[in-house]
Amino acid sequence: MAYSFNHPLGMCPACTGLGEQLNLREDTLFDESKSLREGAILFCQFSSGWQTHLWQNNPLLDADKPLRDFTDKEWQTLRYGSEKPLKVGIRSNNTGRVDMVDYEGVLPRFRRLYLSRDISKLKRGLQEEILSHVEQGPCTACGGTAGGEVVFEGTPARLIAFPESKTGRYLKDSL
Ligand SMILES: [Zn+2]
Repeated sequence: MAYSFNHPLGMCPACTGLGEQLNLREDTLFDESKSLREGAILFCQFSSGWQTHLWQNNPLLDADKPLRDFTDKEWQTLRYGSEKPLKVGIRSNNTGRVDMVDYEGVLPRFRRLYLSRDISKLKRGLQEEILSHVEQGPCTACGGTAGGEVVFEGTPARLIAFPESKTGRYLKDSL
């Protein structure tokens, strides 16, 4: 059996050896001329439904102020999150009960819910909307260099002796 750098054992786990990953385009998610209540977050999951209250009910944000008038601190809170852990009260439309929900900034929440997960089961329209906010870029874990290039082909025993190969280093421990 011949091993190559493309073998799964040697590839970058973050991008599965493709050298690329999906990155969030931070500029496309906000309409700075609008306030939060007017729909300044340009993503349907965050501008309608219960999640919208994470921002509109947030005591650190003014939901009626256009984003372009936000202070640096408000921008920071909106985009990345609050300095200290914060819970936001969200009232259920069905039961009227108020739940305290952990606050999360738009960008980490988007990454966690839609980039770090398999989105193939979501509705097609939503998948397209998600993809409109991301772009393909080099993998930040391996710098886009750990994919594709075959640096060695041969037997496992010879591969172990080949210093450039991560697969070889991995095999050394398992043989
Ligand atoms: Zn990678």
